[in-house]
Amino acid sequence: MLEKSLAQKVLAEALRTGADLAEIYVEDVESLQLGIDDSRLETAMRGEDRGAGVRVFFGNLVTYAFTDSLDENSLMEAARAAAAAGRGTQQQAKTIDLTERKSQLEYPIRKPFDTLSIEDKVQLLSRMDEAARAYSPQIVQVTANYQQLRRQMWLFNSDGVQVEDDRFYTEVRAGVVAKRNGTLQRVREGFGGRVGLELLDDNDALAKVKNMCERAVQMLDARPCPAGEMTVVMCNGWGGVLFHEACGHQMEADFITKGSSAYAGKIGERVANPIITAIDDGTIPGRRGSLKFDDDGTPAQRTVLIEEGILKEYMWDLVEARRVGRDGSTGNGRRESYRHMPMPRMTNTFIDQGSHTPEEIIESVKRGVYIRDMAGGQADIAKGDFVFNATVAYLIEDGKLTAPLRGATIFGNGPQVLQEIDMVGNDLALDPGMGMCGKIQMARVSVGQPTIRIPRVTVGGTDDASASN
Ligand SMILES: [Zn+2]
Repeated sequence: MLEKSLAQKVLAEALRTGADLAEIYVEDVESLQLGIDDSRLETAMRGEDRGAGVRVFFGNLVTYAFTDSLDENSLMEAARAAAAAGRGTQQQAKTIDLTERKSQLEYPIRKPFDTLSIEDKVQLLSRMDEAARAYSPQIVQVTANYQQLRRQMWLFNSDGVQVEDDRFYTEVRAGVVAKRNGTLQRVREGFGGRVGLELLDDNDALAKVKNMCERAVQMLDARPCPAGEMTVVMCNGWGGVLFHEACGHQMEADFITKGSSAYAGKIGERVANPIITAIDDGTIPGRRGSLKFDDDGTPAQRTVLIEEGILKEYMWDLVEARRVGRDGSTGNGRRESYRHMPMPRMTNTFIDQGSHTPEEIIESVKRGVYIRDMAGGQADIAKGDFVFNATVAYLIEDGKLTAPLRGATIFGNGPQVLQEIDMVGNDLALDPGMGMCGKIQMARVSVGQPTIRIPRVTVGGTDDASASN
């Protein structure tokens, strides 16, 4: 952590060439990663990383310099490097009155990381591995991973902002592969959050692994997915990754100010069926995307993006808010580490609760596909064109789930699909807590949705998709 007096001195130095705003972001990260592959401990890694970045604003010109050492000389050097783009001179060093701001938000940890030994954590992964292998001889490959991460940040800026956020994350992931003859079926899942080791009490890891094995083995009997335009019903929870990737990114302010987004200039316009409300909420207790303050020092908030089909707001960081003269951001400035400048990013983003039961939605479909689980897909996040692979999917015939389907892939354009969603369930859920978003920089996020129905979407039936990802 940085002494307030040193922060003031560094900020004064950063302002010396005429900047209108200067900021220091300090970070201290400790992590532990454990991984079992083929019943052997393959990863055991402790990590530590600390450093600081100085960011200087000359209007819309923003410069950045970072250092991995927190001594006065290194920080002053970073301040001078970041300030070097300025031409002005300031005769007197400005006095910066820093006032610490407290967050109303609490993300308490019930069980600190050190309440279990490393051996205990490895044991958990071993038990997951054994449970998967015991489930069926058809389970031929098992991986299990554990990660704990503490990321403390402190931010000071020349507007007087002084904030800190002490972020703890725990996560467990597993992957199983079932094999019969030449057919492979992979299922991956994880759970986690901005929580401590209570995660391991609140989730039954062994039951989850058995359930994954059950799905993987069941999918060995799957038949190839039919191709063509059809009705698709997407499960609640992790299904929200489609909205995140294919629509959410386009509501991030950098795509808006560049004008490259389908949503640029559309505030107040209808962009979805009135049954759709979509929200980005960085304040949900325990979620991966939750923050006290974002990495610009702005308090996290809940932002209604789409309300009953009408586009209401974008997700702003400080840079983009300043660019358009907006009064403050929406608390969506996030950075991967002190080596990076923040950019507008989602936190926990979801489609809100609707009125239909999931059963009603499935019953409404004469013939279609139900997607229960999706592997990653690909989306052009600036345009919203997407290809998503379902790892677990079923045929819907006369309102009932029938045959499991292999290789179901859906294609489309996010903003267009969003206009077409015509049923929204009353079973809103957020994902189990394993979302990573890779928009240039990596960020922990949550996604979510109730069960939804898309009346027409292109489904591809590539038979080999089951073995990939
Ligand atoms: Zn993303």
